[in-house]
Amino acid sequence: MTGRVIVITSGKGGVGKTTTSANIGTALAKNGANVVLIDTDIGLRNLDLLLGLENRIVYTLVDVVEERCKLKQALVKDKKNPNLCLLAAAQTRDKSAVTAEQLKKITDQLKEEYDFIIVDCPAGIEEGFKTAISGATEAIVVTTPEMSAVRDADRIIGLLEAKEEIKSYKLLVNRVRPSMVQANDMMSVEDVVDILSCDLIGIIPEDTGIITSTNRGEPIVNDENSQAGKAYINVARRINGEEVPFMNIDEPKGFAAFIAKVKKFFKAKD
Ligand code: ADP
Ligand code: MG
Repeated sequence: MTGRVIVITSGKGGVGKTTTSANIGTALAKNGANVVLIDTDIGLRNLDLLLGLENRIVYTLVDVVEERCKLKQALVKDKKNPNLCLLAAAQTRDKSAVTAEQLKKITDQLKEEYDFIIVDCPAGIEEGFKTAISGATEAIVVTTPEMSAVRDADRIIGLLEAKEEIKSYKLLVNRVRPSMVQANDMMSVEDVVDILSCDLIGIIPEDTGIITSTNRGEPIVNDENSQAGKAYINVARRINGEEVPFMNIDEPKGFAAFIAKVKKFFKAKD
């Protein structure tokens, strides 16, 4: 079998790559696929914390590369989904500890046994980025609807285009706040897609539940009532080739919807 290697990348830090990796990985596994999440970033909110697995890590990616353990030994099984596991990032500050060739060798090996290998990428376009994309044939570019993030996403798309092995890349717009779009304080998803001219794979609303879910060590896709959770489940379905309509989170809701209706009513009258 040949699994799919998908890198989650962004350029700008803090836009939601790790959140996206954890939730897409969990959603795909809940759907029955065998999934490995690879953490290639050493950051504040690592994948292990988001999955609540931080106490179970014995070996990391660097241990595998430096042959202190076998690849299988370093795969930490998720508590809830036995078909989801994590290859954790090393807690070393040396960012060149893993080379592109070494990571590609690992993803090539994992492809033989797993359906999906999701690689969580560090911020920036330097060495860490080049390493993270080395084994991937697909990419998801995460951005928020802010100019600085979109500019960095544009840069990343250029680099992905230049890499022959990347067969497809899609855009995920995170932290969308309808009320701000409504008030013209934020770019709409449409604006972002226009600027980047890239196919969309997901729109994730701003959701405070994501912060509590991070702290609990449980991805938001496990919360059936969460809008962001549902949006991530839809992303996983699209990855599987399903055609799922986008939730219209740009649409005004609540009070804003009421005002819009009142305005329309008066317009209709005159
Ligand atoms: P990255 O991996 O790109 O640096 P993270 O996934 O660590 O970004 O997210 C950065 C911060 O933003 C985290 O505190 C996370 O909880 C928060 N966050 C991400 N997505 C959302 C969202 N849709 N709504 C609210 N908070 C979010
Ligand atoms: Mg991260």
